[in-house]
Amino acid sequence: MLDLLKTPIVYLKGVGPAKSEVLKMELGIFTYEDLLYYFPYRYVDKSKIHTISEISDDLSYIQLKGQIRSIQIIGEKRTKRLVAKFEDETGSIDLIWFNSIKWIVDSIRPNTTYLLFGKPSIFNRRYNITHPELDVFSNETKVSFISFQPLYNTSEKLKKRGVDSRAVSKMAYAMLQQIKGSIPENLSADIIQQNNLLSREEALFNIHYPADKQTLARAIHRIKFEELFFNQLNLYRTKQLRLTRIRGHEFPLVGDFFNTFYHEKLPFELTQAQKKVIKEIRADLKGPAQMNRLLQGDVGSGKTVVALMTMLIACDNNYQSCIMTPTEVLAQQHFATIKNLLADMDVNVEILTGSARVAARRKILENLANGTISIVIGTHALIEDRVVFKNLGLTIIDEQHRFGVAQRAKLWGKNNPIPHVLVMTATPIPRTLAMTLFGDLNVSIIDELPKNRKPIKTMHFYDKNRLRIQGIMREEIAKGRQIYVVFPLIEESETLDLKHVNDGLEALSHDFPLPDFAISVVHGKLKPEEKQYEMDRFKKGETNILISTTVIEVGVDVPNASVMIIEDAQRFGLLQLHQLRGRVGRGAEQSYCILVTGYDLTQDGKDRISAMLHTNDGFEIANLDLKIRGPGDIDGTRQSGLLDFKLADLSKDDAILLKARQTAESLLKVDPEIEKTENTPMKKFLLQTKYKTNWVFIS
Ligand code: ADP
Ligand code: MG
Repeated sequence: MLDLLKTPIVYLKGVGPAKSEVLKMELGIFTYEDLLYYFPYRYVDKSKIHTISEISDDLSYIQLKGQIRSIQIIGEKRTKRLVAKFEDETGSIDLIWFNSIKWIVDSIRPNTTYLLFGKPSIFNRRYNITHPELDVFSNETKVSFISFQPLYNTSEKLKKRGVDSRAVSKMAYAMLQQIKGSIPENLSADIIQQNNLLSREEALFNIHYPADKQTLARAIHRIKFEELFFNQLNLYRTKQLRLTRIRGHEFPLVGDFFNTFYHEKLPFELTQAQKKVIKEIRADLKGPAQMNRLLQGDVGSGKTVVALMTMLIACDNNYQSCIMTPTEVLAQQHFATIKNLLADMDVNVEILTGSARVAARRKILENLANGTISIVIGTHALIEDRVVFKNLGLTIIDEQHRFGVAQRAKLWGKNNPIPHVLVMTATPIPRTLAMTLFGDLNVSIIDELPKNRKPIKTMHFYDKNRLRIQGIMREEIAKGRQIYVVFPLIEESETLDLKHVNDGLEALSHDFPLPDFAISVVHGKLKPEEKQYEMDRFKKGETNILISTTVIEVGVDVPNASVMIIEDAQRFGLLQLHQLRGRVGRGAEQSYCILVTGYDLTQDGKDRISAMLHTNDGFEIANLDLKIRGPGDIDGTRQSGLLDFKLADLSKDDAILLKARQTAESLLKVDPEIEKTENTPMKKFLLQTKYKTNWVFIS
């Protein structure tokens, strides 16, 4: 049977070659199916007719019933407009058109009753409605109106060809009549029944032509469920394939390196959470499958030492490991920390970054290839082609958000079998996102900070209160503590960046002058070694204050620092603010995070500041961030095409996601290859989608 849904859109009644061309170009609608999945962005309630006297400031789109009493053309050229007086039994209101004036003048019939649809706005302290939709009112019009009218996005080009929201709605209607009974179900009867879902066909019909409010809600629910269900089904499948078909390196031993470090060198007791995570990693490494684990832990939760201990297991099994970091400063930091922790242990650790000198680099490359180096820490310099390992068994990626999927794959490709991968992130990922994006990874969470840390006190000061901020700074410096002052990165203008930093330096040098005080400055214009020099001075305690743009955002560890001052805090994203705050509070003393802003805060800015004042918990921050921003612009998710849900909204639909996940899980438990007859709807659908690669080689 021919697949009706694949019919080219040109064959739809009322479309034709010209319209079909713009539909393709402007909306990507090539076939019936594309139109079927071109969903309205909003619905308006047309079941109610308002009166003019009821119009108030908070009305959005409304319907009015009345007559046009007079029309008049006002203004010249760009201000030229058509104004019509529209009246019902309660009053009158101006209707205004800026375009198609002649056409409107010709078509308006005086003393005829119209049903009007539009959005009132206020101009010169009077209500008016620009570009309303008008329909001659008759009993027939009334009947033909559905109570919930869908609104579709179109474009100027489409509107010029007469394809406005209404026209799309009409096309959808014509198509639905034609394909009735031919939309294949893609969920099994069991799943539909257990989750009390509408059928796929009924849902799609109601998305375009809602019968009523309740059915519309159920239709939307069904589509959301479907989207999330297939996402979860696919992720489980990927995970299954990884565990069963991709061979990994087996690390059967925990030997001298690990044990010596653990029993003799570790300067503190591990937290319960760190121990738990190391056990989880250990279990992965022992087995025959490749590890692919995401390690989440709030800033300061102690991920570095977990990474190190994992690498020591690799050493015990005669494998090399590497840590990839997004910045050179962070690579240096890890290098110093790890060298220091390992002290006199016989492990060869090296660092490879873009700024390594030629001779040194050659030596390092040689020693990576012959296996003399056990652990290498570096930036993306590590993924250059000339970097060859003797036997890379483990790759650790710190702060994964900054590495693209392709970059990661390149590193994996360096060895066969591909190394175990541990991805560490301090950016807490909200549960819904973690489930939908990383559902194929195993996840470990460090949900506990080392003991004896006092929660950081977060405060908000306006610019005007500099003296109070200075007071806190003086007190802390007097106690021997150190202070970060961070300025926002002004992306449009590096000069402006520098100006802010320099102005800040000038002001602070005035208040905290030499020789009693010393200040370090780090910004994007400095060379890597200059940055390093300034960072080192601060780290060694030679300077009291470190002024910087966001370069210290990731990973810097100076436990003696106790104050984080964030200038123009409203310019930072919520997660960024939280990351910055995590730079202090690493010692046993009370620490402070001071957010500085002007009075002119946007609502968004206020929300972020108040979220910071309200909680220290990274996961709560991540969830709030998702609510404030929506999931759209989380790094990498857009391009990856992983999260192209049409209706599901990860900031709201946790409950549906959980259901979908459970459903996918139980399905795969009983029918792992989805081959039972009752599950053919799912199988057929999967084989048609982008998910098919995971399912094609099913026998
Ligand atoms: P992050 O998870 O942000 O990378 P780090 O690994 O940099 O955190 O650790 C933050 C600080 O806490 C470091 O100074 C580290 O030495 C210290 N630390 C880590 N684990 C513990 C622990 N179990 N007890 C005490 N201090 C710890
Ligand atoms: Mg870290």
